[in-house]
This record gives sequence, C-alpha cells and structure tokens, in this order.
Amino acid sequence: MIKIERVSHKYNLGLSNEVKALNNVSFSINDGDFIGIIGHSGSGKTTLLNVISGLLKPSEGSVTYDDKEIYHLAMNHTSQFRNRNIGFIFQDYYLEPKFTAFENVSIPLMPQKEWSLKEIESKVNEALDLVGLAHRKHHKAYQLSGGEKQRVAIARAIVTDAKVLFADEPTGNLDSKNSHEIMNLLRNLNKQGKTIVLITHKNEDTIGLSKVLFLKDGTVQ
Ligand code: ADP
Ligand code: MG
Repeated sequence: MIKIERVSHKYNLGLSNEVKALNNVSFSINDGDFIGIIGHSGSGKTTLLNVISGLLKPSEGSVTYDDKEIYHLAMNHTSQFRNRNIGFIFQDYYLEPKFTAFENVSIPLMPQKEWSLKEIESKVNEALDLVGLAHRKHHKAYQLSGGEKQRVAIARAIVTDAKVLFADEPTGNLDSKNSHEIMNLLRNLNKQGKTIVLITHKNEDTIGLSKVLFLKDGTVQ
C-alpha cells in the first residue's frame, strides 16, 4: 500500500516566481489498484506522479510504501528502491533511438549485477513477448511506430518485475486505435497483479479503473 499524506509542493520556493503545484493532497493506493489521475494541463499531475514515485521530494508531507517513508531513505537507497519496485512509462517513450528494442528493454537490468547475461536475455524476451513485440526485437527504436515504441517502453517498465507502474499520459502521442491497445495492455498488466497509476487527460482512458482522482490547481477534488 502507498500512502500519500498531506503532500504540498512549491517550485521556486520563496522566489517571486513561486508556484504552488500541489496543495495538501492525501490519498492511498492499495496493492492491485489501477488509479487514474485526471486534470487539465498545469493542474499538477506530473508533479504528483513524480512525488509519489520517489523522483521529487515534496515541500511538505510524506509518501509511504508499506510503512517505508521513501524520502527518509538515504539517497542511494531511494534510487535502489525505485529501480527494484517501480516502472515508468512516459508520453514521449524516452527510448534510446539507436538501440534495438531488445537493448532498450535490457537497460534497467544492467545496474543490478545479480543477473547473468542468459537470465537478462530470458527476462527481456519474456517482457517483449508480453507486450506482443517479440518479432520486432532487433529493430532499432527509431524504426518503430509510436504504438510499438510505447510497447517497448512498457516492456522496459515491467522487465525488472516492478510491482508498481507509473504512466504519465502514455497515450498522449498516439492515435485512438493505438491508445486503445496501450490501455488494454495496461488493463491486462493490472489483471496480472501490477499496481498502476495512470495520468491522463482523456476521460475514456479512465473507464473501469479502481479509482479516479480529479486534480484541479494542485488539489484533489
Ligand atoms: P500537469 O502535469 O498537470 O500539466 P505539472 O505538474 O507539470 O502539471 O505543473 C503544475 C504547475 O507547476 C504548473 O503551473 C507548472 O507550470 C508548474 N511547474 C511544473 N514544473 C515546474 C518546474 N520545474 N519549475 C517551476 N514550475 C513548474
Ligand atoms: Mg504533465
């Protein structure tokens, strides 16, 4: 379970351009939930996702994973915690364009020296299989379509067996057919046990999710 308690965040604290991006946000995420966070541009969605996923320490409040306060861990423990437990999926995919699909998916396994090359190969193949891209594994990322790139990004997010996936507008650059396929893939991963936090501004993406939060001016409505 992830608990977000009284989280507020200001950018440029104390300066004339100070922005209050989050204002006293509290909610919890149960294991196996598929949470949607919806809101207009500038409402604080990305800030909230970064705070929950351990990338951005909030000005106030706490984020707790099963009683472990992530911002109280030593810096290297926070990144180790993220590498092992959390997967990220972004609107712009963030693939290495000249690396193959296979190479892109193998990247998160590299810092964890506990696996042999053979184990890495089988984990990467399994993840690519799961997203339906086994036949594209030797294609370079720049040679793939948008929908295929997002599948590679999802394979990269799940290859570490991360329990929680954070997706920041993963369908933002896709047409409706590909958006639909990516959402179905995320729904299937949720059915297989992944906890997912999805940011979107498309109402249709939130159909059937376990909880939908509407964010407005940094506040959950
Ligand atoms: P959303 O993802 O909903 O579009 P963001 O969380 O990116 O919203 O932004 C919330 C508010 O914080 C916006 O007003 C934005 O301009 C501001 N903001 C976001 N990132 C920064 C930053 N690094 N420095 C200053 N202000 C920022
Ligand atoms: Mg955003």
